[in-house]
Amino acid sequence: MREDINEKCAVVGIFGHEEASKLAYFSLHALQHRGQEAAGISSSDGKKLHTIKDRGLVMQVFNEKNLETLSGSSAVGHTRYSTAGDDSILDAQPVFARYDLGEMAIVHNGNLTNAQEVRTSLIEKGAIFQTFMDTENLIHLIAKSPKDKLVDRIIDAVQRIEGAFSLVFLSRTKMFAMRDRFGFRPLSLGRLPNGGYIVASETCAFDLVGATLVRDVEPGELLIFEKDKAPQSIKVYEPTPKHCIFEYVYFARPDSTVYGQSVYQMRKNMGQALASVEPIEADVVIPVPDGGVPAAIGYSQKSGIPYELGIMRNHYIGRTFIEPTQEMRDLKVKMKLSPMIDVIKGKRVIVVDDSIVRGTTSRRIIRMLKEAGASEVHMRVSSPPTTDPCFYGVDTPSKDKLIASNMTNQEICDYIEADSLAYLDEDSLLKSVNSTVDEEKYCTACFTGKYIV
Ligand code: AMP
Repeated sequence: MREDINEKCAVVGIFGHEEASKLAYFSLHALQHRGQEAAGISSSDGKKLHTIKDRGLVMQVFNEKNLETLSGSSAVGHTRYSTAGDDSILDAQPVFARYDLGEMAIVHNGNLTNAQEVRTSLIEKGAIFQTFMDTENLIHLIAKSPKDKLVDRIIDAVQRIEGAFSLVFLSRTKMFAMRDRFGFRPLSLGRLPNGGYIVASETCAFDLVGATLVRDVEPGELLIFEKDKAPQSIKVYEPTPKHCIFEYVYFARPDSTVYGQSVYQMRKNMGQALASVEPIEADVVIPVPDGGVPAAIGYSQKSGIPYELGIMRNHYIGRTFIEPTQEMRDLKVKMKLSPMIDVIKGKRVIVVDDSIVRGTTSRRIIRMLKEAGASEVHMRVSSPPTTDPCFYGVDTPSKDKLIASNMTNQEICDYIEADSLAYLDEDSLLKSVNSTVDEEKYCTACFTGKYIV
């Protein structure tokens, strides 16, 4: 069974707005960085659900004409990221089904850790699956629940699943938003200017549609949206926060507020803290764009070493990470990033990135900087060594491909051909996001191997 489906994605839900699907569409544009493989929206006109989904970017999947068909005052949307090159649009979301209570669409960000177990037991009882997605389990669990009311069926279903989930469900007349008890993946609630509501993976979607942040959906909380009512909250689980720290490190957009704090500020804090780790004399600090930008600014502010743009990024090339073969990844890094020779030539350069995963990007960049005439290149990373894969919805490769899990820091430094290499340590990372190891509020499994479920 493939485990790589339904990785880091984005979800959005709009409730109580005449142009719900258009707002969902704009929101998905703001959330495109969370998944570029497929996109989809389901809307409800009160009697019927309408769905459009396909592989491709939001702007490729939707156009004025097909958006018109997504009528109604509520909508849910999704962008999907997956490493596997599956060309089935069945694996795009929303997942839609008709069942005894009517129609339902579900969007999911996260990864269910007991998906296989649940699926096997459902199949043994006669269920037929159409996709590889763990999210499809939920449809079956809801359809099979003996409870009369949908809300009770949703509670039944989410109690059968484990792992990471930020979910939005759309029925013909209601919308539901639910976050797992650990709050692994983000999910925020906002108010639309007309009085309707929005839930989304990141608040950058709120800014685009003019919504204001109300609060996060709490870990373990189910929110019910019903016409002419304020959202009703049910505590399905006692919250035990274990927020994914990688959202702060790399994944979320810097203009979002995630887990109640500005992503940009957190990244700048990380850069400032990094400046105190193995400080080194240099002429310029440059970021690996775009991920390393806020941390490089923080580094420069703290160290007093001037910040410059030393690498240009071609924004029309997709993320390098998603290509399955090493050869393709190498090629794509070359296409994507080019050196600013005037900034680099003859200089001692500190280059800041948010993370090293396989080491491909750093190695390429350092070679490129040396070829452009840098006299020294010092690699600084604003997070600890990525040593362990994520099972809660971020796409990290298996342990054997994670360079920090197979090499010492010195070996990595040699491999990437840097003059020196330093990472931010776990304590400093947690401090940068205003926490401590003792607080145990964040999931740091990708850096520590400490898994929660
Ligand atoms: P690598 O070349 O494998 O070492 O990847 C490191 C680069 O990928 C860094 O520049 C990161 O900003 C970026 N990165 C880290 N994690 C991810 C991820 N889950 N998906 C896509 N890119 C990532």
